[in-house]
Amino acid sequence: MINVTKTFFPPIEEYNKQIQRAWDNQWLTNRGELVLELEEKLKQYLTVSNIIITTNGTIPLQIALNLLSSNGEIITTPFSYVAGTAAIVWQNCTPVFVDIHPEYLTIDETKIEAAITDKTTAILATHVFGNPCHVEAIENIAQKYNLKVIYDAAHCFGVKYKEKSIFDYGDVSTCSFHATKLFHTGEGGAMFTNDTDLRHQLFYSHNFGHNGPLAFHGLGINAKMSELQAAMGLAVLPYIDKIIYERKKIVEFYNANIDFLEVYSLKIRGNTYWNYSYYPLIFETEEKMLKVQKKLNDNNIFPRRYFYPSLNTIEYTKGFEMPISESIASRVMCLPLYVDLKLEELEKIILLINTSLC
Ligand SMILES: *Cc1c(COP(=O)(O)O)cnc(C)c1O
Repeated sequence: MINVTKTFFPPIEEYNKQIQRAWDNQWLTNRGELVLELEEKLKQYLTVSNIIITTNGTIPLQIALNLLSSNGEIITTPFSYVAGTAAIVWQNCTPVFVDIHPEYLTIDETKIEAAITDKTTAILATHVFGNPCHVEAIENIAQKYNLKVIYDAAHCFGVKYKEKSIFDYGDVSTCSFHATKLFHTGEGGAMFTNDTDLRHQLFYSHNFGHNGPLAFHGLGINAKMSELQAAMGLAVLPYIDKIIYERKKIVEFYNANIDFLEVYSLKIRGNTYWNYSYYPLIFETEEKMLKVQKKLNDNNIFPRRYFYPSLNTIEYTKGFEMPISESIASRVMCLPLYVDLKLEELEKIILLINTSLC
């Protein structure tokens, strides 16, 4: 069976070596040696000046919204994983959707201003499939209307935009280290900010608000990563360049061999150093996409409909019409993309796609 992705497992001896340290220290959480070391190594790898690693990639969105949203209206994208929209509703804020760009698949920055009201407090946008939003335009709008910007950069491990880590943009950026993501700790995530005060707030928020054992800076929740998760991260990280390189080869093979007469893939924004995290294929109609999906499924190949459905159509957000997002969501699928994917498998996938299209 070929799935859309396959978790990268480092050699177990290398994982054992890391996990042994937790046994030696008799220490499993509360920012132990492994978490601190992983944070340092990630700062170096990602070229960021600070990072707070967390137990998953959703709770950083909740924490950022909790600190920055003032329970207002949050401008967001309908084309993403549900985590962002769910976090907005979960934090008692109101999602206000803005449609997407049909090729970049990120929020259409030219439509943001029309959606701003006096209740708008923040923009939560996703760098979809690792493709950066138009961060400059969003920054300008945010300054003009005094809004906060949170980027769901769950797909963006290693992505750079204009020579800087993509995590350097926005008031807060978040990442996911879920097992299906490019770099993973089983479950895990991170949050980033370049604002010293905000960093302090994010930091105490992720640890119950603690100011030492007996006092509190303010309200907090538990978002700490454990030593068990950090051990996986430390074992995976040495392979990250190989992971990205292997994915790059697969993406280039798809690009060179898919018959693009009736389909297209992601348009990567200029000045981006991309991470080859997903391979979306967008068909002319849902019918054509379903036909190809069925052909692949019959051959034991399981692409995924990322992202479907458009988030403005789910039960708790209804009431917006997002024609581009709804249209793209109905006819996009992500092709298998992972380190172990064999050349024969890749050729078979491409042949099946090309022959079902004609
Ligand atoms: C995976 C993902 C998340 C959630 O991350 P978890 O680590 O699973 O909590 C958030 N946003 C997007 C776009 C994602 O793909």
